[in-house]
Amino acid sequence: MTVRVPAKVNLQLSVGPVRDDGYHDLVNVFHAVSLFDEVTAEPAGDLRISVDGPDGVPTGPDNLAARAATLLARHIGVEPNVALHIRKDIPVAGGMAGGSADAAAALLACDALWDARLDRGALLELAAQLGSDVPFALLGGTAVGLGRGERLTAVEVTGEFHWVFGYADGGLSTPAVYAECDRLRAAGEEPIAWPLVSDDLMTALKTGDAGALGRALRNDLQPAALSLRPSLGDALAAGCDLGALGSIVSGSGPTCAFLAESAGHAADLTGALTGTGRFAVVRSAHGPVPGATVI
Ligand code: ATP
Repeated sequence: MTVRVPAKVNLQLSVGPVRDDGYHDLVNVFHAVSLFDEVTAEPAGDLRISVDGPDGVPTGPDNLAARAATLLARHIGVEPNVALHIRKDIPVAGGMAGGSADAAAALLACDALWDARLDRGALLELAAQLGSDVPFALLGGTAVGLGRGERLTAVEVTGEFHWVFGYADGGLSTPAVYAECDRLRAAGEEPIAWPLVSDDLMTALKTGDAGALGRALRNDLQPAALSLRPSLGDALAAGCDLGALGSIVSGSGPTCAFLAESAGHAADLTGALTGTGRFAVVRSAHGPVPGATVI
């Protein structure tokens, strides 16, 4: 059973103050893009994980796909005896929710393998227990996520948008970026945001206006990511100099997302950004695309 699952970029990531439970209230506008991991589930004598792709992905019980299989098995009352093979194309610790994507894919693959036939609501509930970004990887498309990001509402989008993603050499830890965001705010260097969904962003998506979308991109974690990785500032500026309609750090970074006018423009921008030598890898993609899908 093989499931293909997309990466996400955040079109809006507004971060409220820290709550009593340690989490932040978020307004998160997720957008699924055509960079995919694949997770294959096969019957086995115990739970095994293998990974094809970059270093840095755990192959033990800490792998989010393994946690997803274990959670589903417990939920339906079977042993988590499955071999999960992950083919990674989504950058690791890149702010594109690759681990969450693999968890969503493993849920769907094991649901099919074990013939559990859980409905969408039950799968989304298990997904939310695994992490704030996991439900969106099941849903795909474009969606507003409230709460910790897991309370999702689909957003109407006209047409598709063309993107270029610049991957950095090393990842950034999501908790470290949130901690830096809190530190900058406590030091008075960044304002505390009270998150609201951006009307300009919703209009740009509804009308399919790439120029307006480029102007509406917003990520409250960007100052923290730049503080931890100052070279990202020049990388984002390079994209704008080369004609991107908008440049933003994806989620907690360090992947940089650049919006292009068209598929052709994205191809040109991919070449130009590769030529700057600022990124380990530069890839083009389009969005929105569907969420985790059995193939
Ligand atoms: P997000 O955008 O959701 O904050 P991210 O894209 O920055 O996440 P991930 O690639 O999801 O980061 O990985 C973060 C960490 O999670 C990795 O450094 C790794 O140790 C761990 N991890 C666990 N399972 C996986 C997986 N299947 N793929 C990648 N990383 C995983």
